[in-house]
Amino acid sequence: MNANEIHNHIERLSNLLRTESRQILMEHGLQPVQLEVLHYLSACNRYSNTGKGVAEYLGQTKGTISQSIKVLERKGLITKQTDHDDKRIIHLIITSSARNLLNETIPASLFRKASKKIKKHGMEQITNSLTSLLTAVQKANGLKSFGICHTCKHNIILNDGNYLCGLTKEVLTPKEVQLICCEHDV
Ligand code: SF4
Repeated sequence: MNANEIHNHIERLSNLLRTESRQILMEHGLQPVQLEVLHYLSACNRYSNTGKGVAEYLGQTKGTISQSIKVLERKGLITKQTDHDDKRIIHLIITSSARNLLNETIPASLFRKASKKIKKHGMEQITNSLTSLLTAVQKANGLKSFGICHTCKHNIILNDGNYLCGLTKEVLTPKEVQLICCEHDV
C-alpha cells in the first residue's frame, strides 16, 4: 500500500468514527477538539495534564486550547488544581462526568463492533503499524513522542515493584507507568 492509499484509509476511518461521536457531542454542546482534550487528560500522567501539555499533544496553539479548557470547566468536565510544589503550574483534572462521556464515545460503538470481527493477531499488527506510522509523523513534524511511560529511557524499575522517573527523581506506581508523558524520550 502506498502513502496515498494509507492517507485515504485513515481519512475515511476518521470521518466515519467522527460522524458517530459528533452526534453524542452535539447533545452535550461540545466540539470534537474538546473531546480530544478530555481523552488526552484521561490518558496522560501528572507531569503532562497542563494546558501546555494539551496544546503540544494536539498540535494546537495555547490560545485555542485555553478556550476549550474554559468550556470544559464551565460544563463541569474538568477542574483545575494548583501544583503543590510550583504554584505557577495548574493541573487539569477530569471529573467523573467526563469519564462517563469518554466511556460513551471512545472507542465509538461502530469501531467496537468492527474490531470484534478482526482476529487478535490482526489487531496487534494494526496497532504496531499505526504506532510506527504515528512515530514517523511525529518525528517528521518535530513533535514530542508522548509515549507511554514504561517505554521511556528515563524509566527505572525498582525492586519493590514501583518505578523511578530518572528525570524528575520521583517514584511512579505501576498504574502511572501505563500513562503517556510529555517528557517521554527513547
Ligand atoms: S520516566 Fe519518562 S515518561 Fe515516565 S514520567 Fe519520567 S520522563 Fe515521563
